[in-house]
Amino acid sequence: MARTWNIAVLPGDGIGSEVMAEGLKVLNAVAARLQGVAFALSEHPVGATEYLRHGNPLPESSFAACERADAILLGAMGLPSVRWPDGKEMTPQLDLRERLDLYNGVRPIRLYHELHSPLKNYRAGDIDFVIVRESTEGLFSSRLSRQSNDSEVTDVMRITRPGAVRICRAALRLAQQRRKHCALVDKANVLPSMAYFRGLFDEVAREFPDVQTEHLYVDAAALFLVQKPNRFDVLVTENMFGDILSDLAAGLVGGMGMAPSADIGDRHAVFQPSHGSAPDIAGQGLANPIATILSVALMLDWLGTEETKRGAALIRRAVETVLSNPDHRTADLGIFRRARWASGFWSSYECP
Ligand code: ATP
Repeated sequence: MARTWNIAVLPGDGIGSEVMAEGLKVLNAVAARLQGVAFALSEHPVGATEYLRHGNPLPESSFAACERADAILLGAMGLPSVRWPDGKEMTPQLDLRERLDLYNGVRPIRLYHELHSPLKNYRAGDIDFVIVRESTEGLFSSRLSRQSNDSEVTDVMRITRPGAVRICRAALRLAQQRRKHCALVDKANVLPSMAYFRGLFDEVAREFPDVQTEHLYVDAAALFLVQKPNRFDVLVTENMFGDILSDLAAGLVGGMGMAPSADIGDRHAVFQPSHGSAPDIAGQGLANPIATILSVALMLDWLGTEETKRGAALIRRAVETVLSNPDHRTADLGIFRRARWASGFWSSYECP
């Protein structure tokens, strides 16, 4: 039976609308190849540009549309030049995460071509792991608190039992579906909150006897990610460590333009490239849309029917095919050509 999925589309700021336009072309193209699957897309304003227009970076009407949707596709949000009176940038994407309780930040990292990596001796597929970032607490939970006076500011690392248990379970479940290895990244040798996190990870890991686990301090994890990234399958960590390591990991496979992400809760999910609005390249046709296209694939996987999962696999194969042709790479991947996605993507892909 045919099913129509309602997708809330939030292009946002800077290159957000550019990469979103390409992601939607791919979504529509893949939908035409699937049986009984349709997408009803509705676009909603969010971001710093929307704040400049109407005074609210996340209008309630946009938030309500996200709540109603089956899934949310987001481009990028925030502009360094647009700030709240206290100097902080607008981050409606973080508000969305918190308000929709999107605790499970899934950041897949895969090398699609050996020329994309600054590391030697890694071929396509050799680097293939997922960072699972807790996205509702950790050090980021301090962002709205006011623990400061004239001479001191304190940020708190908040780890709760339910928060830690649910993210560890999500990571271990993911590892079970992959190569059955899960590394906990923490700083348990220094911070009591991290020692607590580790204890809870070990407790949950007992539910997954087929998954091999290890503990790594975050500093060692940064070293190993550069020295031997192929040793990793799934890494799970708190919010801030996940934020930092995700960018490092994206750098191993070509940069921010190659790093998709999903922020998943029990009822809602947002799919977006890991990068920001990149104002330095906005409006110049230079933005790499692959991270957005791969985020569309993550969304199709998450929607979870056989056909949508088939769509996700089709997109990943198309990305592989496209990236094997140097003419179809954007400047960030080291070949200085303008983006040619609009015409090139599906025409170079043979449907099986
Ligand atoms: P945020 O804090 O909002 O995540 P950021 O400050 O980390 O943003 P980005 O906007 O992600 O910064 O950009 C970081 C760098 O990566 C910039 O030099 C930008 O041009 C580049 N970049 C980001 N996304 C892309 C993309 N899709 N294609 C090409 N280059 C990109």
